[in-house]
Amino acid sequence: MSFATLGLSPALLRAVRDQGYHAPTAVQAAALPPILAGADVLALAQTGSGKTAAFVLPLLQRLVASPPRPGPRALVLAPTRELAVQTAGLLRELAARLLHRPRIALAFGGVSINPQLMALRGGCDVMVATPGRLLDLLDHNGLTLAGVECLVLDEADRLLGQGFADELQRVLEQLPARRQALLFSATFPPAVEELAGQLLREPVRIHI
Ligand code: AMP
Repeated sequence: MSFATLGLSPALLRAVRDQGYHAPTAVQAAALPPILAGADVLALAQTGSGKTAAFVLPLLQRLVASPPRPGPRALVLAPTRELAVQTAGLLRELAARLLHRPRIALAFGGVSINPQLMALRGGCDVMVATPGRLLDLLDHNGLTLAGVECLVLDEADRLLGQGFADELQRVLEQLPARRQALLFSATFPPAVEELAGQLLREPVRIHI
C-alpha cells in the first residue's frame, strides 16, 4: 500500500515524503479514501496509530482542491492543549509545502484570549481548538462557524470524559447542517456512540 494509491495529490505526496512517511499506517490506509470522497467517518484509533495524519492529509487536500472561501472551512476539536498544539503543528508543516498555503489557527484555554483574537483577524482556513476556548472566541465574535465544511472530533472519548459535553453541544449548534464530520476515538463508550449517532451520516466505520 502506498500514499499514491490512496488518492493523495502530488503536492501532498511530496509533503508526506518530506515528513519521512514512506507508507501509510493502517488507519491512514483505511481513512484516506472515504475522507477524500467526502464521507463521514467513525474511527477507532489509538494515539501512536498515525491517526492525526489520517484526517489532516485528506482535510488539506479537500481544502486546496476548491476555490478559497471565508473560513474557517475546517474545525478540529481536541480535548487538551497538548493535542491541539500537536495537530496544528502537523497541519502547519504540511500546509507550508502547498502552493496556496492554507492558514491554520490554534486556540486553547489557560492563556490570554487577546493574542488568539488578534491572530484570527486575518482569517483562517482551519481552526484547531479546545471546546471551551472556541466558545469564548465565538462569544467575542472572533470567528463564525457558518462556513465550516468539515468537522473533526479528535479523541472524542476524552472530549466527553473531560466534561466538555455541554460545550460540545453549544459548538455543534453553530455548525451548518451540511458538512462532513469525522470522529476519532480510542474507545467507544455509549456516550461516544450517542454523539456519533447525532453527528455522523452513514459513516464509514474503521476499527483497526
Ligand atoms: P499519531 O497517532 O497521529 O499521534 O502519530 C504518531 C506518530 O507517528 C507521529 O510521531 C507521526 O509523525 C508518526 N507517523 C504518522 N504517520 C506515519 C507514517 N505513515 N509513517 C511513519 N510515521 C508516521
